[in-house]
Amino acid sequence: MTGDQKPIRASREVIWHLTCGSCHYYWTYPTMNISEDISGKTFHCPLCGVKSDITVEDLTTNGQ
Ligand SMILES: [Zn+2]
Repeated sequence: MTGDQKPIRASREVIWHLTCGSCHYYWTYPTMNISEDISGKTFHCPLCGVKSDITVEDLTTNGQ
């Protein structure tokens, strides 16, 4: 169109789906770092407060 047209800027985001192993609360962890490996990282459950390591499930077995 005209020379002053501004582009639509886009960034890719990854949203990890987390489920507490103790209380089964479900929440999400969004990140712009698509290469971030959260496997083995420690998170606190926002509901019951339990601190646990992340185990990433195999995408072929999580029902998706
Ligand atoms: Zn919990």
